[in-house]
Amino acid sequence: MYDPKSSKAEEFISHEEVLETLRFADKNKNNTALVNEIIEKAKFRKGLTHREASVLLACELPDKNEEIFDLARQIKDDFYGNRVVLFAPLYLSNYCINGCVYCPYHRQNRHITRKKMTQEEIRREVIALQDMGHKRIAIESGEDPVNNPIEYILESIDTIYSIKHKNGSIRRVNVNIAATTVENYKKLKAAGIGTYVLFQETYHKESYEKLHPTGPKHDYAYHTEAMDRAMMGGIDDVGLGVLFGLEKYRYEFAALLMHAEHLEAVFGVGPHTISVPRVRPADDIDVSRFKNALDDDIFAKIVACIRIAVPYTGIIVSTRENKATRERLLNLGVSQISGGSRTSVGGYAKPEPEDENSAQFEVNDTRTLDEVVKWLMELGFIPSFCTACYREGRTGDRFMSLCKSRQILNCCHPNALMTLKEYLEDYATPETKAVGEVLIQKELDRIPNNKVRKIVEENLVKISNGMRDFRL
Ligand code: SF4
Ligand code: SF4
Repeated sequence: MYDPKSSKAEEFISHEEVLETLRFADKNKNNTALVNEIIEKAKFRKGLTHREASVLLACELPDKNEEIFDLARQIKDDFYGNRVVLFAPLYLSNYCINGCVYCPYHRQNRHITRKKMTQEEIRREVIALQDMGHKRIAIESGEDPVNNPIEYILESIDTIYSIKHKNGSIRRVNVNIAATTVENYKKLKAAGIGTYVLFQETYHKESYEKLHPTGPKHDYAYHTEAMDRAMMGGIDDVGLGVLFGLEKYRYEFAALLMHAEHLEAVFGVGPHTISVPRVRPADDIDVSRFKNALDDDIFAKIVACIRIAVPYTGIIVSTRENKATRERLLNLGVSQISGGSRTSVGGYAKPEPEDENSAQFEVNDTRTLDEVVKWLMELGFIPSFCTACYREGRTGDRFMSLCKSRQILNCCHPNALMTLKEYLEDYATPETKAVGEVLIQKELDRIPNNKVRKIVEENLVKISNGMRDFRL
């Protein structure tokens, strides 16, 4: 039985409800009147139900699809403006006891190089990330209670936050580790993490169990209910994600939105972010085995429909995608991207030796952070290193109410300019700095409130004079 308020995975992600949603979407995909009605509802920027959004995703009417793409663009602009937040992943350890068939870290893979960073190695990596200009990272680790216990993760977070190198600091650590207990989520919260991210991989239970044949991750309910436990542990910013390519995308899309509806119904706070990774080649992973791979057009449509369905949620795209795809998705609602990423354990301080391979997937965008920053600015976006919200206590429902009322833009835009200025002063190449200075001057005029503009102008001067870390 479908019940968004249930605490049981199989009731808030009801298989029958997903199938019924897909039938409804199929029946109505060319129903112009209904599609129009849904688009009109979406224009109120309050989001859509999983059924409504599924109709838009299935819609085959070319003119309506253009409207959907246009609306996604406008909604992104209304909620987040033209800022794009930047982050980098940091892989702590690739020891893992699970058997996920799409990931090279699976336990049976004997030829991948297994690594776990010491605190000293983490220190070197963090300094290298700071020297690139990063302020926000996402730590990643395989599941292994012996090699990567929660104490190791907590110690690593402490190490990361403690490093102050030149003008650098990591101001927000998001965490992507395996589903765990309420007690452990409380410890992560106490360690000062930003968002807790856990990809569902697939919401289709039968496929999930086949794709995760061994290890604790095999337990569909425990994995799917993890965000509830995280919320109970006090983490109010959680990040959902599906690994597209494992199952049929329309199934995943409907279920992903049902998960968002469940969090909203039970905790009053939807997901802080949604990630949209696609299956990538890696050691021991042949992507041709995955028959549900998505083409770029469908992928773009999914991103646009997520943007419309949950306007208040950040959408993240990583360096799994190439430059062209990232550019296309940025115009359809993506609000956060990684840049200059290494997906191996270590690799920022010095490249991984040729005879070692600890990477989780092949990177498709290998540009440096500076190149990504310059590229974003040339596309008309403001690269942002902002971490203000969680440091100002704007998390969970406080963040959501600001976001839903579209007030967050009054913070995002000025903070983007101030953190970009820091980047330009400390890390940018002369060419990037030149482009950035012009952009900042132009964007200052777009701050509507005179008082805020004056504060930002004063802070920009202070940043030029060596002061750091201003935020609204
Ligand atoms: S996806 Fe995560 S849990 Fe699965 S094998 Fe890879 S690291 Fe381990
Ligand atoms: S103001 Fe908040 S929502 Fe906006 S970029 Fe900064 S941290 Fe993110």
